[in-house]
Amino acid sequence: MEILDIATKLNQIKSILPPQVTLVAVSKTKPESAILEAYNAGQRVFGENKIQEMAQKYEALPKDIQWHMIGHLQRNKVKYMAQFVDLIHGVDSFKTLVEINRQAEKHNRVINCLLQASIAQEETKFGLPFDDIEEILNSEELITLKNISIVGLMGMASFTDDLEQIEAEFKSLNTFFLKLKTVTLSEVEGQNSKLKTLSMGMSGDYLLAIKCGSNMVRIGSSIFGERHYV
Ligand SMILES: *Cc1c(COP(=O)(O)O)cnc(C)c1O
Repeated sequence: MEILDIATKLNQIKSILPPQVTLVAVSKTKPESAILEAYNAGQRVFGENKIQEMAQKYEALPKDIQWHMIGHLQRNKVKYMAQFVDLIHGVDSFKTLVEINRQAEKHNRVINCLLQASIAQEETKFGLPFDDIEEILNSEELITLKNISIVGLMGMASFTDDLEQIEAEFKSLNTFFLKLKTVTLSEVEGQNSKLKTLSMGMSGDYLLAIKCGSNMVRIGSSIFGERHYV
């Protein structure tokens, strides 16, 4: 059986993504050599779901890589990535925003964040209900967090084969995203939130996600192969 190399798979995916869609190559659990293969094929945006693993890879790999944290955040570990992280996808509490702001300030940076919305019907997924997201975006306190910038939303659909359900979940997030962009941000817009990114879609559902309005997809196994957890 012929196994396609990473560069070939990456290029196949890139060739079908519309120009407005950013590809995050999800390299969690994969070795630095695999990341370098994608890097040498032109990829610069990589996603990891463990802060310490990402920090080690950051140390070892070229410094023009943009590192995205896509996993659930442990607040006490934010400090390990504050110096370099490019975008944090999975922010799901105000407390976490406060901690990201605190650590970003130490490095004199502004860290871009996405608020993670809970759109899946399953209870296992992390994320905030839409109401809570609106509350955060409209809160007076957000304006005081000068070292973070909320640049969009992230969501994960249910783990199911039911494409209609996945599509409905993606559509609900896109509708909410569009509504926020036009209505609720009047107060804070231009301060530290400017919604432009909608991160949804993984290997199994990214084309559907793009059809539903996604402009950032997080693709791991279709580029790097299956992950083997020990
Ligand atoms: C692992 C992961 C992905 C990538 O999943 P694949 O199915 O391998 O493409 C995307 N998003 C998040 C949040 C992940 O944890």
